[in-house]
Amino acid sequence: MQTQILGLVTPLMALFFAAMFVVIWRVGRMKRHVLGFGLAFALSATGFLVTHFLPADAFYTFHITQVFYSLGSITMLASVCERAGQRLHLGSVAFVYAVTALVLALAISLTSDVGPRLILVNMGYGVMFAMGATTLLTAGRRDAIDTLILAVVVFQAADFMIRPSLTLLFETTIPAAVYRDSIYYSLIGLVLGIKGVVTAMVLIGATIAEWTKNLRESSEKDVLTGLLNRAAFEQEMHGLLPRAQTEGRPLTLVVADIDHFKQVNDIWGHQSGDRAIASFGELIQQTIRGCDIAGRIGGEEFCIAVWNCPNEPGERLAQRIREAFANLQHAGLNDDIRLTASFGVATARAGETYERLFARADAALYQAKSSGRDCVQNAERERADGPVLAADRAPTQMTRTAANS
Ligand code: GH3
Ligand code: MG
Ligand code: MG
Repeated sequence: MQTQILGLVTPLMALFFAAMFVVIWRVGRMKRHVLGFGLAFALSATGFLVTHFLPADAFYTFHITQVFYSLGSITMLASVCERAGQRLHLGSVAFVYAVTALVLALAISLTSDVGPRLILVNMGYGVMFAMGATTLLTAGRRDAIDTLILAVVVFQAADFMIRPSLTLLFETTIPAAVYRDSIYYSLIGLVLGIKGVVTAMVLIGATIAEWTKNLRESSEKDVLTGLLNRAAFEQEMHGLLPRAQTEGRPLTLVVADIDHFKQVNDIWGHQSGDRAIASFGELIQQTIRGCDIAGRIGGEEFCIAVWNCPNEPGERLAQRIREAFANLQHAGLNDDIRLTASFGVATARAGETYERLFARADAALYQAKSSGRDCVQNAERERADGPVLAADRAPTQMTRTAANS
C-alpha cells in the first residue's frame, strides 16, 4: 500500500508541473516552448501512471510506458531548443528511437532478463539528450540560465548512459517477473523523481525570468512602432552618453519630426496617420544598427542615438532616412501623396548632458522646419543666417509626387 502511494508521488508531481507551465503560458501569453514544457511533463506523468497502474508482467506495459516517456523527452528537448532559438532535428531523433526499438525487440526475443533492455532503452534516451545538448551548444548567446538548462540536459544524457550499467553491476540479472522488486526499480523511481524536480525548477526559473523580461520590454516599448517609448529612451541615454564619454566614442543624436502631420489626420483620418507613424518607425528600425537606439519621443517625433558615430556620418544617416521616407507610399493616403520629415542632428560634446545635447538637436530640427522642412540641419555646422525664430516658420504643403502633380 505504502509503495502504491509512493509510486503516485512522481506522476502527480509531474502533472502539477505540467499544469503550472500551462497556466504560466496562458497568463503570461508566452511563446510555444512554455506550453511544450507543460506537454512534456504531462506525457512523462502519463508514462509514470501507465507503469503504476498496468500489470507489471504484461508485455504492453513496457512498450506503452516507453512511448510516453519518449514523447515526453522529445517534446522537452524540442522545447528547450526552440527556447534557445534552435531546432532539434526531429528526423535524427526519430531515427534513434526506431533503431533503439528494433534492437530492443531483438533483446526481448533473446532473453527474459530485463537488464539488457534497460541498458538499451536508457542508451536511446541518452543519445537523444546528447543530441539536444549539441543542438543547444550551437545557440549563439548563452546567459546563466541558458547554461543551467544546458547543464541539466547534459546531466540527463550522462545519467541515462551511465546509471543503468552501474546499477546492474550490483544486480547482474533481473528476471522480468520480479522487475518491480529489483534494486533497479526502487532506484529508478527516486532518480526520475529527483531529475523531474530539478528539471522543473530550472525550467520554471527560466520561464519566470523570460516572463519578467517580456513585461519589462513591453513597458519600455511604444506599441505603435515597437521602438522605445520616451521614458525608456531617456533612461537608455542617461546610461549611453556617459559611457560614450568615458570610452571616448562619438555619439550623434538625430531628432526627427514628420512634416504637416496634423493635415494627415485631418484629411485621411487618425488611423491612416497611425499607419504612417508606424511606417516611419519601421524605416528607422531597418536603417539603424543593433548598437544604436531609437525611440518615439512624441506623437510623430522620433529620436535616434547613433553609437560610436561622428557628426558627418550621423548627418548622412539622417539624410538617408529622410530620402527613404520621402519616397514611401502610405496605405490609406492617396497614391500620389508622399510625406516628408525634418531632421536635427547634434554630436555630444565632452561633459555634455543628455538634456543639453537633445536641446541642441531639437533646435537644429526647429531650423529644419523653418528652412522649408524635408531637410536635415546640423547643430555642429554654423548657419550663415543665424537662429531662426518661431515666427519665421513658413507653412508648406505636403508633397505630391512629380508624376501626378
Ligand atoms: P510640423 O511640420 O510643423 O511638424 O507640423 P505638424 O502638423 O506635424 O505639427 P505638430 O507637431 O504640431 O502636430 C503633430 C500632430 O500629430 C498633432 C496630432 O494630431 C498628431 N498626432 C500626435 N500623436 C499621434 C498619434 O499617435 N497618431 C496620430 N494619427 N496622430 C498623432
Ligand atoms: Mg510634425
Ligand atoms: Mg511634432
